[in-house]
Amino acid sequence: MARIVVVFDFDKTIIDCDSDNWVIDELGATDMFNELLPTMPWNSLMDRMMKELHDQGKTIEDVEEVLKRTSIHPRVVPAIKAAHALGCDLRIVSDANLFFIETILKHLGLRDYFSEINTNPSFVDEEGRLRIFPYHDFHKSSHGCSLCPPNMCKGVIIKRIQASVTEEEEEKKFIYLGDGSGDYCPSLKLRDGDYVMPRKNFPLWDLICKNPLLIKAEIHEWIDGEDLERILLGLISKISLGENSHFFSADCKLQTISVSAQALPKALPVQQ
Ligand SMILES: [Mg+2]
Ligand SMILES: [Zn+2]
Repeated sequence: MARIVVVFDFDKTIIDCDSDNWVIDELGATDMFNELLPTMPWNSLMDRMMKELHDQGKTIEDVEEVLKRTSIHPRVVPAIKAAHALGCDLRIVSDANLFFIETILKHLGLRDYFSEINTNPSFVDEEGRLRIFPYHDFHKSSHGCSLCPPNMCKGVIIKRIQASVTEEEEEKKFIYLGDGSGDYCPSLKLRDGDYVMPRKNFPLWDLICKNPLLIKAEIHEWIDGEDLERILLGLISKISLGENSHFFSADCKLQTISVSAQALPKALPVQQ
């Protein structure tokens, strides 16, 4: 069994944009989306927008066509394939929805590289309209996490994955890659010996920089797909070699913390 579990966020981590915004913008529904956003949760609004677009005559093929044009850094696909070839267990945890993610992954030839996609369920109904539902049914009960949106706590998902893999004999290391504020809660759940890869200058990175000591995992920031590939594959080979030298990890962590400390005064005005 794989020793390394690599958990990817999807939007702005695997692909370079937010798939929800991309579809809404490309299908010309940005103004309506922005008008309705203050009135309902994001996830419910996406379901509503799919109805509005369907009523306007946009077909599921139109949505697919837009999804297939999503931009992705040219090094991300090779990075995912290499991580898989090195024996890692790859999973996705995303607040997009299954239809968007699977359409893009199939188009990129990547669907079979992931053992699990944890996201908001969705399906095409008999009228050809995409229906999108919350991962966590918040109408029935709350997931109880104040950091996360009502429809999904990625921390709960990470805890479940941690529990499911510790039933196996070998100790697992996690590498978590993400960019958004929703990736902060799962980052807090990572343990000593795990790794978190926050995208630099994105909300997850800002949150981690505020107090890096809250994170037990080793922190490795990245900027773009090229960086993602280099750092991810570097961490996988380091773990695979069972490197026990403390120098490498201590250096990196100190470096990250000093970079973070410098960035802190800049980050503060943005937060206020
Ligand atoms: Mg994201
Ligand atoms: Zn949470």
